Amino acid sequence: SRPMSADLLDGLNTEQLRAVTWPARSALVLAGAGSGKTRVLTTRIAWLLSTGQASPAGVLAVTFTNKAAREMQTRLSAMVPVNVRAMWIGTFHGLCNRFLRIHHRDAGLPATFQILDTQDQQALIKRLLKSLEVSEEKFPPRAVQNFINGNKESGLRADKLSAHDAYTRKLIELYAAYDAQCRREGVCDFAELLLRSFEVLSANAALREHYSERFRYILVDEFQDTNRLQYAWLKLMAGRHANLFAVGDDDQSIYAFRGADVGNMRALLSDFSVAEPVRLEQNYRSMGTILKAANALIERNDGRLGKNLWTDAGDGEPIRLYEAWSDGDEAEFIVEEARTLKREGFDLADMAVLYRSNAQSRALEHALVNAGLPYRIYGGLRFFERQEIKHALAYLRLVANPEDDNALLRVINVPARGIGARTVENLQLASREQGVPLWRAACGAGGGRSAAALGRFVLLVEDLRRKAEGLTLAETVSLVIDHSGLRDMYEADRKEGEERLANLDELINAAAGFMADDPSQALIEFLSAASLEAGDHQAEAGEDAIQLMTVHSAKGLEFGAVFVSGLEEGLFPHENSFNDQKGLEEERRLMYVAITRARQRLYLTCAQSRMLHGQSRYPIRSRFVDEVPAELLRVLSSGRRPAPEREAARAPWLGDGMPVSHARDLAGFAIGQSVSHARFGTGVVVNAEGSGQDARLQINFAEQGLKWLDLRFAKLTPV
Ligand code: ATP
Ligand code: MG
Repeated sequence: SRPMSADLLDGLNTEQLRAVTWPARSALVLAGAGSGKTRVLTTRIAWLLSTGQASPAGVLAVTFTNKAAREMQTRLSAMVPVNVRAMWIGTFHGLCNRFLRIHHRDAGLPATFQILDTQDQQALIKRLLKSLEVSEEKFPPRAVQNFINGNKESGLRADKLSAHDAYTRKLIELYAAYDAQCRREGVCDFAELLLRSFEVLSANAALREHYSERFRYILVDEFQDTNRLQYAWLKLMAGRHANLFAVGDDDQSIYAFRGADVGNMRALLSDFSVAEPVRLEQNYRSMGTILKAANALIERNDGRLGKNLWTDAGDGEPIRLYEAWSDGDEAEFIVEEARTLKREGFDLADMAVLYRSNAQSRALEHALVNAGLPYRIYGGLRFFERQEIKHALAYLRLVANPEDDNALLRVINVPARGIGARTVENLQLASREQGVPLWRAACGAGGGRSAAALGRFVLLVEDLRRKAEGLTLAETVSLVIDHSGLRDMYEADRKEGEERLANLDELINAAAGFMADDPSQALIEFLSAASLEAGDHQAEAGEDAIQLMTVHSAKGLEFGAVFVSGLEEGLFPHENSFNDQKGLEEERRLMYVAITRARQRLYLTCAQSRMLHGQSRYPIRSRFVDEVPAELLRVLSSGRRPAPEREAARAPWLGDGMPVSHARDLAGFAIGQSVSHARFGTGVVVNAEGSGQDARLQINFAEQGLKWLDLRFAKLTPV
């Protein structure tokens, strides 16, 4: 029989094969979207393992998201019979977390250190500003947060910074105070995970030697989006022995705003003595027309490293362009097409609706809910960011470490137990004065009524900690939800309680399915995983559902059918990029990423009016639509519908304040009239456009809210 490694290599093209079987030297694979970079990287790991060149413990692989890491593990398990869990596969954050858990002493961290996600970090900054009596107006927490993270991502601690102006000097001071507070609490924000690991490695030659010996093979996907600190960390890990195998595409660099540096690609060539990048030019993902559109678009950018992508798949279908008259209409169009595609045999999960900013998802969700089509949002309010989940996690964090100030403040009065803002302030004051965590201040609180409430909280946490001893992870989660009062609290909440309870049960399920590397540390590992997940995509569920996500979070993924929505000037390209050639080019790369997610079908949609952040806008269509050669497009919209809401929105209330539509023939209906509809129930006509049988009415339904209905199709009866 053939050796297993031969099967692994089946079907690779010559260049892919060259990259997969690259000798034990560093390499850079520079290639466009869909050319098989991720596949090459995964196959190379399998090949190294199955030919005995590397052991699972000797491989370090970096992916861009936790989801990508899981996918890579799944693929690898199918390819080679080794325990892939022994391998270090993960995001930079995930890997650094793993590193710091092992070397927490060198890092000056408690073994149980907790990870602050973006929201936790902001909460801590707010508290800090308050305690230092710094005005949030002059120093907005978001700005302070960006200052801190930006500097950490550049590898700079506060003591390395200086400034001429008083404002920046204050920011530096706040940065120092923030870091001191984190150290006191034993917590790490995302950027800190990386910086701390970097510092531990820098300071410890023996450790560097150990890892350089151990991880002979370091592989990095989406290398174009690594920032300087990540690259510096990679260099330290690689040391003298390892070789670095990086794959990337400069045309898909879309995180410059977060410090990603395409220059790392050039640096790699010289730092790791790579003579020439390997180039992959055949695209295996998209039909010809889609690829032509992507190539034509990205050609407009300057300073590209240059690539040529081709496919031997046929042209396929033309790209559909739909110019809707409103965001609601755009959403309805997408829903209709999705239904058609489903009838044609596409799975819902193989369709994605992409948008530039999260706020756009609301209209889409609305249409999907109305149509009863299941959907899943990536990057919106994710599971681990939901209120009830964060409450439960806070209790779990207190079980792990009661001195965690963030966690304590989050739930000290949730459910309400009579601990008011005043008591909390006094507690914070006491903790500052005594230089101890809030927990210890709470334990030592004196008499009085508020102290009694505090005392009960302390007893509750101590009780939880005692009861949790010897329980499994799932039992602990369940205990915390029941015993903390969270379950009762949500059971009493008739509005949202049901969904929140379902989420809490889902958390118990997640705990039951969680596999810890070290079972005695299951709770800590689970909490870390949850924090890391909160910075990433939503957990996968079984149901077949359309995928909604921002273009940023679609990177590396592919779908049979893709809708790129909201293609309007100001939205995509985003208005922040208008004054800046670099910014515009980054937006264009983002559009390139969006287009190249599609295998067979691509839709471009835009709207002539859009509600965003509570305001109506009347944008013009995106220049990126016009940058796609016209012969590749099939225009679906022109003349289909009256242009409209622009007038409709204001016309009815012009003149003497009477709706002008009264004068129009609305097939017997009038604005202000009550109507009933078989599916949507009863409502009031609030707006109209067109006339006679072509009229459309906007109705405010008691249960379902505002809807536009075509009189020709909708069966409405006056009530
Ligand atoms: P991106 O830049 O978007 O991350 P990529 O370069 O990583 O893309 P992959 O995701 O690895 O590309 O591959 C794109 C698609 O092409 C996948 O479905 C992959 O399985 C398929 N593919 C890659 N190489 C081959 C091949 N030699 N034969 C058949 N299919 C292939
Ligand atoms: Mg990829």
